[in-house]
Amino acid sequence: MSMLNFTVGPVMMSEEIKKVGGDDIPYFRTEEFSKVMLENEALLKKYFKAENDARIITLTGSGTAAMDAAVSNTLDTNDKILVINGGSFGHRFVEICQTYELNYTEIKCQFGRTLTKEQLYKFDNQEYTALLVNLDETSSGVLYDIEMISRFCKKNNIFLIVDSISSFLCDSFDMKELGVDVVITGSQKALAIAPGISLICANKKAITRINNSKVKSYYLNLKSYLTNGERGQTPFTPAVGTILELNKRLHIIESNGGVDAEIERISYLAKYFREKIKELPFELFADKMSNAVTALELKNKNISAHKIFEIIKDEYNVFVCPNGGEYKDKVFRVGHIGYIQLEDVDKLIDIFKDLVKRGILS
Ligand SMILES: *Cc1c(COP(=O)(O)O)cnc(C)c1O
Repeated sequence: MSMLNFTVGPVMMSEEIKKVGGDDIPYFRTEEFSKVMLENEALLKKYFKAENDARIITLTGSGTAAMDAAVSNTLDTNDKILVINGGSFGHRFVEICQTYELNYTEIKCQFGRTLTKEQLYKFDNQEYTALLVNLDETSSGVLYDIEMISRFCKKNNIFLIVDSISSFLCDSFDMKELGVDVVITGSQKALAIAPGISLICANKKAITRINNSKVKSYYLNLKSYLTNGERGQTPFTPAVGTILELNKRLHIIESNGGVDAEIERISYLAKYFREKIKELPFELFADKMSNAVTALELKNKNISAHKIFEIIKDEYNVFVCPNGGEYKDKVFRVGHIGYIQLEDVDKLIDIFKDLVKRGILS
């Protein structure tokens, strides 16, 4: 069987994208490349449902570069920050705050459980100025209630930074309506292109913060990305090839009906998978799921989830996504992002059924 990848990134790419990736890399200080960058900016703003005066910053670096830069360029030691931490990516925001010695409070969510109103409103009227959240906490697949978080932030006049790296194109999102100030995504998740590019969408408030920032970073000082970006350029050599893939991918999404159609497509794959696994010895792990990924717990606690991941990889040439740490043997995940067809989902279901028949799963 040819390789199938159901991880949460890098994911499978369409033939059209792979063709772009196979081309030579053009020189980029040209009008043609600037046009590509400006086109990407316009389409991404449209897909985030950003305000007209929002800007896109294209970073060469994985998603974490954008998390790091978003925090370090818009927040400082005068901010009082809330961090929603429900897994590895929430923990990463905590570590970024620690790195910059920022004043933060962690709201710990149990792994696989969403943030409750009670947990959040404990911090109401306490002069918090910023909030950091991973819309989909990819390590558990929990999708936080962004509308609730948005209402809380509007009420408390809190600057809201959303890591939408795995949620973008999977779950509906309206930056303007939610009053989100910064939203982030990355290339190797639902954008389904090569890793190497991360994207920050900054609204007017965020742009002001970036321009007034005293960030101590040379490469990730976002001011120069904003000024260079005005003419469709970046301060340094970007991952030109991946940016061209991005342009191709955005045009494909556009010609297939735009962002809402893409969210619908991924949401259908997720629903289809979740329906099909009902007859298998799994439990859904998260209490509120993103369409990007389904975390599964094995009903039989004597079977190792990591072992299942390995058998599927070694014997069927198919990748599901293992978990780490204390959940290594309990949970694995199945992604619904990338160039996945319904038949591919059926193949994965058949593999699970085969494992049951072989007595490996029960
Ligand atoms: C993938 C991911 C990231 C970024 O990870 P990188 O390995 O740096 O690309 C950040 N946040 C979330 C929620 C993610 O899913």
